[in-house]
Amino acid sequence: INKIRKRELSKTPFYSLEFFPPRTQSGALNLISRFERLSDGKPLFCDMTWHPAGDPGNTEKPTSSTCIAGIMLNYCGIETMLHMTCVGMTTDTIKENLHKAKDLGIRSILALRGDLPEGSHEWQETKGGINYATDLVKLIKQEFGDHFVICVAGYPTGHPECKSYEQDLQHLKEKVDAGADFIITQLFFKAETFLKYIKDCRKIGINVPIIPGILPIQAYQSLRHIVKLSKLEVPPEILNAIQPFKDNDEAIRKYGIDQSVEMCKTLLNAGVYGLHFYTLNREVAVKEVLKRLGLWSENVHRPLPWKQSANHTRCD
Ligand code: FAD
Repeated sequence: INKIRKRELSKTPFYSLEFFPPRTQSGALNLISRFERLSDGKPLFCDMTWHPAGDPGNTEKPTSSTCIAGIMLNYCGIETMLHMTCVGMTTDTIKENLHKAKDLGIRSILALRGDLPEGSHEWQETKGGINYATDLVKLIKQEFGDHFVICVAGYPTGHPECKSYEQDLQHLKEKVDAGADFIITQLFFKAETFLKYIKDCRKIGINVPIIPGILPIQAYQSLRHIVKLSKLEVPPEILNAIQPFKDNDEAIRKYGIDQSVEMCKTLLNAGVYGLHFYTLNREVAVKEVLKRLGLWSENVHRPLPWKQSANHTRCD
C-alpha cells in the first residue's frame, strides 16, 4: 500500500495484473512461464483469484488459488495478492485459509464475499460463517492485526444485488472503515463511469486509493460470459461495433486493444495513476495495451526469485 501511495504522490502510473488458477497441471506450467514473461514488464503486483472448488468436471486435480499464489510469490518473485471469499465457509475454515496464506509469505489479501452459488438468487447465511466482505475485513484485522494489506472490491455501476448505487457506496465505505487499505473495481466500459464513481466515493469520505479494473475485450463469447456472470451491460455502441466481426477472434482482440488503450488514456489524463488488468490468463492483448500506453518496461534487470523471496516484505 505504501508503494501505491508513493506512485499516487509522485504521479507515476503503475499497473497490476490479475490471473485465475489453472484447471490442469499443464495449465499451471504454462501459467507460471506466463507470469515470468509478464513480470518482465514490471507490474506493481499480480493477483490470483479465489476459486476453491476448481472445475468439478475436471479429472486432473485442480490447482488451488493459494498454491499458485505461493508459486507466483516465492518462485517467480512477484509481489502477490491473493483473493479470498467467505461464501459458504465457516469462520474456522476462513481462518485456516488465511493462516495458509500467511505461512506462504503472502502479505496482501483481496477480501470478498464471493458470488452466490449457482442457481440461487438470494444470499443464504452459512451457519458459523460470515455474511459480507466487511465481516471478512474485520476478521482479518482481529486475527492478524496489520499483517495483511487488505483490498476490497468496488462496483462503478453498483453491485447487482444492492437496492441502489448509493446504498452500495455506503457498504463500500463500511469495508474501508473496517480497515481496507485500497479498492479495485469491477470492470466497466466507459472512462466516465469510473471518473464519476471515484468522485462519488470521495464525496462520502472514501479516501483510500481506488484502482480501476480494465478488461481488454478478447473474444465475443468470453465477453458474453463475463457480463452474464457480473450482470453488467455492454454499451450498445460496443456491441454494434463488434457485431460484424464477432466470429473473428483476431479482429475482436484488435478492437478490444484499441478500446482499452483509448479508455486508459482518458483515465490517465484525468489523473488516475493505477490500472488493474483482468488478463483472463492471456498475455498478448494486455501486453500490447501496456506497450501502447508506455507502461511496459522491458529489459529491466530482475533479481533472482529466491533473492526476493528471501527477504520479501508486504506490498510496501
Ligand atoms: P460485499 O462487499 O459483501 O457486498 C455484497 C452485496 O451485499 C452488495 O450488494 C453490497 O451492497 C451488500 N452489502 C454489503 N454489506 C451489507 C450490509 N451490511 N447489509 C446489507 N447489504 C450489504 N469472486 C470470486 O468468487 N472469486 C474472486 O477471486 C473474485 N474476485 C473479484 C475481484 C474484483 C476486483 C471484483 C470486483 C469482484 C470479484 N469477485 C470474485 C466477485 C465478487 O465475489 C462478487 O461480486 C460478489 O457478489 C460480491 O463480493 P463483495 O466482496 O463485493 O461483497
